Amino acid sequence: MVIGVLALQGDFREHASMVRSLGVEVCLVRLPEEVDSVDGLIIPGGESTTMGKLMVKYGLEQAIIDRFNAGRLAIYGTCAGMIVLARDIEGSQVQPHLGLLDVTVQRNAFGRQKESSEEDLEIEGLDTPLHALFIRAPVIIRTGPSVDVLARVAQGPVYVQQGRLLASSFHPELGRDTRVHEHFLQLAEQSSNQEV
Ligand code: GLN
Repeated sequence: MVIGVLALQGDFREHASMVRSLGVEVCLVRLPEEVDSVDGLIIPGGESTTMGKLMVKYGLEQAIIDRFNAGRLAIYGTCAGMIVLARDIEGSQVQPHLGLLDVTVQRNAFGRQKESSEEDLEIEGLDTPLHALFIRAPVIIRTGPSVDVLARVAQGPVYVQQGRLLASSFHPELGRDTRVHEHFLQLAEQSSNQEV
């Protein structure tokens, strides 16, 4: 199994080292051809408008959608990555995004940089809370029928799953707790076992 980390912009290095620390091979994805060699793709935190524009410019958007629709790819988006994955972005019709995850997100829902925070989050399926970092994070304001909410805060859902799509408003790659990444690796494993 190989995990791709979209390496156009943002904190892709932190995701790559967390996945490597779990003993799994990483490919830093910058070209459409590279999407076809991975079983899972992590879209990191950063700036969703910039990342979306670069994805379109390098032809990655269609490559990701095609491989996902072929059942060969699991995708995990953190923070800006969650926004890039979302079907709808509140207040924006123009920002490029993949539209795969049936949610509406509100960007910068907690306020500006100084309202960034840390919180111990109860997560569905985990025995003990996860220490979560929120940095100019989005929140989910609508979930479609096939979306499971795995964690929420007062403002709304912050960790969701829809089949092999996973998205969090917070940044597990900046901490030491690997449980979210381990969960994602299981989803990617299912894609890698898929019959061609
Ligand atoms: N506020 C950023 C955006 O809207 C996301 C911030 C982050 O990824 N930490 O794209």
